[in-house]
Amino acid sequence: MTSDIETGSKLIDGKAIAATLRARVAEHVARLRDTYGITPGLAVVLVGEDPASQVYVRNKNRQTKEAGMASFEYRLTEDTQEQELLDLIGRLNADQAVHGILVQLPLPAHLNADLVINAIDPAKDVDGFHISNVGLLATGQKAMVPCTPLGCLMLLRDHLGDLAGKEAVVVGRSNIVGKPMAQLLLRESCTVTVAHSRTRDLGEVCRRADILVAAVGRPAMVPGEWVKPGATVIDVGINRVEPEGGGKARLVGDVDFDSAAQVAGAITPVPGGVGPMTIACLLANTVTAACRAAGLPEPEGLTA
Ligand code: NDP
Repeated sequence: MTSDIETGSKLIDGKAIAATLRARVAEHVARLRDTYGITPGLAVVLVGEDPASQVYVRNKNRQTKEAGMASFEYRLTEDTQEQELLDLIGRLNADQAVHGILVQLPLPAHLNADLVINAIDPAKDVDGFHISNVGLLATGQKAMVPCTPLGCLMLLRDHLGDLAGKEAVVVGRSNIVGKPMAQLLLRESCTVTVAHSRTRDLGEVCRRADILVAAVGRPAMVPGEWVKPGATVIDVGINRVEPEGGGKARLVGDVDFDSAAQVAGAITPVPGGVGPMTIACLLANTVTAACRAAGLPEPEGLTA
């Protein structure tokens, strides 16, 4: 789903594509309920008071219910002890009404995030961060795929169809976005380069890309002159920028949209690009987990 923007690039409409995915999720949920008596359930655990996390969790809760799924929310205080959190995860692992478990990151500093994430049953790890899912993805096996890279891949497939043979550059190598994104693109038979803060001549590297994914966390750091004419640009960055002289903060991506849109073949906006896909993919992963738990075939159109 793309639309022309004044610059000549096509705008990849993440909002519309996410709405289509959510509708597909809701159809699968209704079928699971009506045919098998299964209601997919997602448990979200939030520790502490981080304001951004609170907003994410509220949105996840609302969209889960809107899709007809069960939403279980656990809000724990900032000073929660690790064992308490591990005990809760143990109970959720054993709970048959819970098909997906998500622990909202970042966790407070006194909690070991790796230990906590790896305590989740990999079959319920709808964020795809458990070491087993990381390994399954890396070895090309059936995994739970992290939501943001999965959403990016769906946007790319929607716009480009077959990705085989394309030069892909991913800027950023985090475990939650950059690395799994690179794995997915490799699985699609792209030729993949992963760039990071120590990459030399980043502009030159980016200019090779037919597909350029920016996941850095630095406002507008990728200028138009780093974009190959006709390339497809996926901007994962969400940066809150306070205008000089005060006023309302605005969200900008890692790509300088105005200059990049002059040269790109297609580009995602921020907001309204990758962001809406992330939660839609979380819902999709929960339905996939519910189907797998019941031994049912993989739901169509929800996995990569
Ligand atoms: P991290 O901070 O974990 O990783 C950032 C990566 O960018 C690192 O690999 C880092 O390199 C690299 N980097 C930093 N500076 C530079 C530079 N100057 N040149 C090249 N590479 C650089 O971030 P995340 O992956 O978690 O998130 C990235 C962005 O995506 C953020 O804006 C975040 O808000 C957004 N995001 C959006 C989501 C959505 O739903 N749309 C979901 C998740 C994240 P090095 O490893 O060398 O330090």
